[in-house]
Amino acid sequence: MGEVVFWTIIRTAILIPVLWFVYGILDYQLWWIVSLTSVYGVIIHPAIIHYRLFEEKNKDIIESTLCSSCRYFDVTAVLCTKYDEHPDMNYLPCGGLDWEPKQNKNEENLIR
Ligand code: SF4
Repeated sequence: MGEVVFWTIIRTAILIPVLWFVYGILDYQLWWIVSLTSVYGVIIHPAIIHYRLFEEKNKDIIESTLCSSCRYFDVTAVLCTKYDEHPDMNYLPCGGLDWEPKQNKNEENLIR
């Protein structure tokens, strides 16, 4: 997920000076159209595609591993927060020994 954010920031950092430069060349109304189109085409659309690829690549890990039902698993980063490592289909950082079930909302409220 961090990779998606990183490249989105890089594309944004490149696009801003380009749009700044183009602002002096194009008519103001045309510049708005070019700006909005390029923001979508260069920043938003690639970020959506990149995120979908990330989801597709990690779908099996998120849905089918022991980690997917563990309280230490961070779905957004596909990360074991206890070991600070990324599990995959053939590797669990704890080997299954530190697995603890996720708590549901009712159990969380009882603890508070
Ligand atoms: S503690 Fe073990 S089971 Fe839980 S997320 Fe980490 S590696 Fe997976």
